[in-house]
Amino acid sequence: MAGPIYLDYNATTPVDPRVLEAMLPYYREHFGNAASRQHAFGWKAQEAVDRARSQIAALIGADSKEIVFTSGATESDNLAVKGVARAMCAQGDHIITVTTEHKAVLDSCRELELEGFSVTYLSVDGAGFVEPEAVRWAMTPRTILISVMAANNETGVLQPIAHIGRIAREAGVLFHTDAVQAAGKVPFNVAQAQVDLASITAHKMYGPKGIGALYIRRRTPRIPLAPLVHGGGQEQGVRSGTLNVPGIVGFGRAAEIAAAELSTEGARLSHLRDRLWDRLSSTLSDVSLNGSARSRLPHTLNVSFGGVEGQALMLGLEGLAVSSGAACTSAAAEPSHVLKALGVPDDLARVAAIQPRSIHHR
Ligand SMILES: *Cc1c(COP(=O)(O)O)cnc(C)c1O
Repeated sequence: MAGPIYLDYNATTPVDPRVLEAMLPYYREHFGNAASRQHAFGWKAQEAVDRARSQIAALIGADSKEIVFTSGATESDNLAVKGVARAMCAQGDHIITVTTEHKAVLDSCRELELEGFSVTYLSVDGAGFVEPEAVRWAMTPRTILISVMAANNETGVLQPIAHIGRIAREAGVLFHTDAVQAAGKVPFNVAQAQVDLASITAHKMYGPKGIGALYIRRRTPRIPLAPLVHGGGQEQGVRSGTLNVPGIVGFGRAAEIAAAELSTEGARLSHLRDRLWDRLSSTLSDVSLNGSARSRLPHTLNVSFGGVEGQALMLGLEGLAVSSGAACTSAAAEPSHVLKALGVPDDLARVAAIQPRSIHHR
C-alpha cells in the first residue's frame, strides 16, 4: 500500500494520465508562443489553444469566443468581481454576494469596499442555501453585480443559480458564478443558469494547476470589464500575458474527459459518498451531516463528529488525507466560515470534511 488514501479532491486533483499525455508535446516540440503569427511554431500553439478553448466552452455550453484564460479560478473570481465593479462604477456601486462564497470572491468584495463600493453579504439557511428572493430584495437601483457560487467547495451544496440568474436578468444586473466545483461534476450550462460570468479551473477536474478560465457572455453592448493585468493585449485585451499553452491543452483535454464521463462518474461517486455516510452514521452515535442532503455535489461529504475536534480527529486518521476546511484557509485554526454560516456550533464546525472522490483510485 502506497501512502495515505487521498480524500481531498476539492482542494485539488491529480492530473489524469490522458491529460498529461496531451500536454507533453507542447513542452517539447510544439513550444511556440500562441501569439507568434510569423511561423509554424506559433500557428501550432495557436491551433492547440483554439481546440482547448472549444473543449472548455463545450463543457459549460458556451461559445469558444466567450472563454478567457487566466492563471486559475482565484484570478477569474478577482477579474469578474473587481473587473465588473471598476468598469461599472459610473452606473452603480452595490454588489450582492453570499457569506459562504470562496475567499477569492469574499476578499475581492472586501477590497472593493475599501475602494468605496458597498457589498451585501446574504446569509444562508441551515442547509446552506441562499434564498433567491433574498437576492431580489437586496437589489437596489445601484446594484451592478450579483456573485453566487454554483456549488460550495466545503459542503458541496448546490445553490439555486438558475433561479437567481433569472432574477438578475429580469433586473438587468450582471450575474457571476464561481462554478469551480460544479463544472465537470454536475451538469452546468451557462445558458440554463443565465449567468453572465463564470469562473472555472483545471486542477479541480484532473487538469494541471495554474490554469483557469473566465466565461464572459457575449452580448451587445459588451460586458464591461476592467482588466487586472495589462500588457500585450492577449485574450481580447482582458487578460494580457503569454498563454500557458501546455496548461491550456491539459485544461481542454480534462474538460473533454469530464464532459464524457460526467454521468458515470457522478453515479459512481455519489454511491461511494452515500456508502461512507451510511457506515459512519450507523456505526457512530454523534455524527451529523453538514449541508443539504438533497441538492449537493456527488463527491462531497462534510461531517461533524461530536466531541472530537477536526484537527485531533485528522491526526488519528493517519491513513486518510482529509481536510477540516478549505485548503486556502486551513492554515488558520478558525472554524470554517462556511459551517458557521450554516449555524453549525463552533466546536462542531472544526470538522473533518471528506471528499470520497478517490476511495477507488482511477
Ligand atoms: C479551488 C477553488 C477556487 C480557487 O481556484 P484556483 O484555481 O486554485 O485559484 C475558487 N473557488 C472555488 C469554489 C474553489 O473550490
